[in-house]
Amino acid sequence: MSVTIIDGKATAKRLRDETGKQVAAFIEQTGTTPHLVVILVGEDAASQVYVRNKEKACLAAGMRSTVHRLAAETSQAELLELIGKLNTDPQVHGILVQLPLPKQIEEQAILDAISPMKDVDAFHPENVGLLAQGRPRFLPCTPAGCLQLIQQVCPDTSGKHAVILGRSEIVGKPMGLLLIQRGVDATVTICHSRTRNLADMTSQADILIAAIGKANFVTEQMVKPGAIVIDVGINRVDGKLVGDVDYQNVAHIAGAITPVPGGVGPMTIANLLKNALTAAQLQTNQSAR
Ligand code: NDP
Repeated sequence: MSVTIIDGKATAKRLRDETGKQVAAFIEQTGTTPHLVVILVGEDAASQVYVRNKEKACLAAGMRSTVHRLAAETSQAELLELIGKLNTDPQVHGILVQLPLPKQIEEQAILDAISPMKDVDAFHPENVGLLAQGRPRFLPCTPAGCLQLIQQVCPDTSGKHAVILGRSEIVGKPMGLLLIQRGVDATVTICHSRTRNLADMTSQADILIAAIGKANFVTEQMVKPGAIVIDVGINRVDGKLVGDVDYQNVAHIAGAITPVPGGVGPMTIANLLKNALTAAQLQTNQSAR
């Protein structure tokens, strides 16, 4: 059986182009340009690249982008003050705080402080709650990107067994919530570091999603022949980016697989743009979906 390589780069471009057209129509109707503000604290090299990419993508889609670059020593109170100002600024539609934050700042306190209407990452408890209840305001960017890639090769996921490796608030958990939504209807198993007989679990998966942050962790023996394998992991090995899946070997057995880079990564930014537009629509009382 030949494997389908799922091209996240091309899919993300289509999604970004589509959002760009919707942005143009929105500006025409309302005279308002959707405005995303990104806050970067400190000098983490990977975060700087991510923030630059988000800024570029925003501008390319016709949106306004502002980046606040704050010193690594910024206090939690200072960051909260900035978020408070942005929350009440009618010119700002979306707010994203780039993670991770320096250790003097409590991440959850910051995410909780962002106005839920401007929470384009969908990390605020109100937005997580709405997603859990099956009526999301914003879709979490990375899990939404994974789902779009899955649906590209498997339009009918009903009753399929999806196994997720990782239970983080950013990827694993919201991925599970998206997959059990009505209309998606997968049966979901979420695994983590305490899961027993992991390979037994993963080899039952019709859809396997790896989000653990361990290079080449998922081997051929852990994958059911013909499975759809989505690799969220971003790991640097000898200066090269690799995923959580041993791509070379798993590609021989999978039915479809995402590469790293060029798989899930570009989808995250494409969904962020979509959320920024949704935020602007919600705040100007335009229909968001
Ligand atoms: P976290 O470190 O927050 O979570 C990792 C999860 O993996 C935890 O739930 C952990 O279990 C689980 N885990 C770790 N080791 C094992 C193991 N040996 N067996 C089973 N489960 C294990 O990571 P994130 O979810 O934030 O990110 C995961 C990966 O995805 C990273 O490489 C990250 O860089 C990447 N990523 C990529 C994005 C993209 O756009 N492509 C976006 C976000 C993340 P436990 O909870 O028990 O500790």
